[in-house]
Amino acid sequence: MFTIDLTGKTGVVFGVANHRSLAWSIAQQLHAAGARLAFSYAGERLKDKVESLTATLSDSFVFDCDVTRDEDVTRVFRGLAERFPRLDYLVHSVAFANKEDLEGEFLNTSRAGFHLAMDISAYSLVRLAKEAVPLMPQGGGIITLTYNASQRVVPSYNVMGSAKAALEHEVRQLAYELGPKKIRVNAISAGPVNTLSARGISGFTDMLHMAREKAPLRRGIEPDEVGRAALFLLSDMASGITGEVLYVDAGYNIMGT
Ligand code: NAP
Repeated sequence: MFTIDLTGKTGVVFGVANHRSLAWSIAQQLHAAGARLAFSYAGERLKDKVESLTATLSDSFVFDCDVTRDEDVTRVFRGLAERFPRLDYLVHSVAFANKEDLEGEFLNTSRAGFHLAMDISAYSLVRLAKEAVPLMPQGGGIITLTYNASQRVVPSYNVMGSAKAALEHEVRQLAYELGPKKIRVNAISAGPVNTLSARGISGFTDMLHMAREKAPLRRGIEPDEVGRAALFLLSDMASGITGEVLYVDAGYNIMGT
């Protein structure tokens, strides 16, 4: 059996809020394969939770980082440069939109709400990648998390669909620009998983039921399946893959109805 060995590799993971976070499933897989990890959390309110969770992974450490604040982002990567000989992986698993923009009519999205969702959920990938690239002189891997509402209409997903469409374009653009530096950039398009962010979407339970009913595998997905797909994409097993959106959704995206 081919096993993935990431011993000696380092990664930074943005977006662990609690044990249900997709970022946490990804981190567990990377750690189990031997990678040393750093984490960021957004704001004091999450500090204790993220610290106690990540303490279970040997040799890991945490930073406070709101991705909308340039000074936070710069501080995190300066800290990473001091503690890691180099960076191999960047995991971007961050998204946010105001609750009122994840229900009702998309037509009512405010300018401020649109900017906020785009800034946190899409632009942040560019900003984080900009800082990560100089720490990846020998190449590396970047992954982000998206959802199929980037391509199709999912009622209530609204402005987050716009943000995910932008995010998927960024994956292609960054893959093109960073390819010569041997840095691969990919996205995982996950099926619905019951996390903190997901519960903020009006009608999320309907999305979950629909996916379970209609997906070719006739079930939803487990967070661990996203974690394993991320491990694959970041490992040398995926050495020929960049600029891709890999669906981990029990096949739901292929369905016409
Ligand atoms: P989650 O556990 O709530 O993770 C979202 C993370 O984004 C949280 O850690 C959150 O921190 C962080 N975040 C929000 N605003 C931030 C900011 N300004 N600066 C830094 N971090 C910020 O939910 P999740 O479902 O795992 O989401 C992870 C990613 O997967 C998102 O991109 C999401 O769109 C994507 N995704 C999820 C699903 C699903 O069904 N769950 C499906 C497809 C794709 P706070 O808690 O502090 O806000």
